[in-house]
Amino acid sequence: MSYNAFITEETIEATASGPLDGATVAVKDNISTEGVRTTCGSTMLEEYVPPYDATVVQRLKDAGATIVGKTNMDEFGMGTTTETSAFGATENPAAEGRVPGGSSGGSAAAVAAGEADLALGSDTGGSVRCPAAFCGVVGIKPTYGLVSRYGLVAYANSLEQIGPLAPTVEEAAELLDVIAGPDPNDATTREPDEDVEYAAAANGDVEGLTIGVPTELLEGADEGVRAVFEAALDDLRDAGATTEDVSLPSVETAVQAYYVIAMSEASSNLARFDGVRYGKSGGYEGNWNESFAAAREEGFGEEVKRRILLGTYALSAGYHDKYYKQAQDARAWVKQDFDAAFEDVDVLASPTMPVPPFELGESLDDPLQMYLADANTVPVNLANLPAISVPAGETDEGPVGLQLVGPAFGEATIIRAGSALA
Ligand code: GLN
Repeated sequence: MSYNAFITEETIEATASGPLDGATVAVKDNISTEGVRTTCGSTMLEEYVPPYDATVVQRLKDAGATIVGKTNMDEFGMGTTTETSAFGATENPAAEGRVPGGSSGGSAAAVAAGEADLALGSDTGGSVRCPAAFCGVVGIKPTYGLVSRYGLVAYANSLEQIGPLAPTVEEAAELLDVIAGPDPNDATTREPDEDVEYAAAANGDVEGLTIGVPTELLEGADEGVRAVFEAALDDLRDAGATTEDVSLPSVETAVQAYYVIAMSEASSNLARFDGVRYGKSGGYEGNWNESFAAAREEGFGEEVKRRILLGTYALSAGYHDKYYKQAQDARAWVKQDFDAAFEDVDVLASPTMPVPPFELGESLDDPLQMYLADANTVPVNLANLPAISVPAGETDEGPVGLQLVGPAFGEATIIRAGSALA
């Protein structure tokens, strides 16, 4: 297990038999597992053992799956490389010396290295799709509300979904079939309009499908990435799809809006880690304020502290309208642009990541470079839409993913289109 894909290797047996009989599944370490520690990649939760299972974990056990461990991740999901983990970086099995992407880097690496058949990650701004792209596997970010977040330790509630990672589109779709569907414990879940079997949609049939290519999502793309992307579009056209350029002008504001909203929600969500209710309890001296501060100083890493500070600032009196409210306006605009595009096309295609996998250590001192790498994934979370990343080819620097975005609850369409590439 040389890639450091797992934080905790512990087997959790199935409780029933079902569609995932015999399958091994790796679970991101921000998804609660009863009796097995769930660290979120943070010193703060190094010893935290949840008293209950997340709904998705319960569904895996009910479906016959064997959980093989909890995977490495950027601390609390905050990152694009899995290097902000308190448990050391994960290496990319498909690109030596490079990051696996993040924040669900351990989940993607486990699948790429064959250390698990399937994996679960979470995607707040790209954290399933980015590592899927960098490690050469398939990842799906479901429509907001398709999969229960009960038992997912929150980073930014309004943006995130749990999603599957797998070697093929069909296997990812099978895992989605198991975890999708309403949950009384998560009031944001809802029943899709139609009852679809996602695995059956992976039939490679794109005859007559119209694929829109948003020109703005190609602007920042690396040349090698772009060449792989164009070749993948050729393959889709050969299979019977048509492509056309479309414009999503609002996506220029998406990275800024995403980071303001994500950090604001994070600053509120992470307030519970005070060493009393949750988190490391160090027996600190002094009054409660001093003891909370000491626990948070010791328990959180640098990137998490940066985001709590920025998020608290964006929400503070006098700045709320300037930052948080403007970001919400931009979010509404992004959503409108997608809605308009889907009046003309069935799916939208772009490179998942505009760049190939970074070298280990390369982006750590440059948070802005890391944030900008999320340009193609975060608009999808702002608009609460479904997207899939499928392996499209490689450059000298590693695998390249093709991202296909669908209208809300249009998972079957992006699965169908994605399966035409495999
Ligand atoms: N890279 C993005 C961030 O750091 C996305 C992370 C995620 O989806 N959890 O916020």
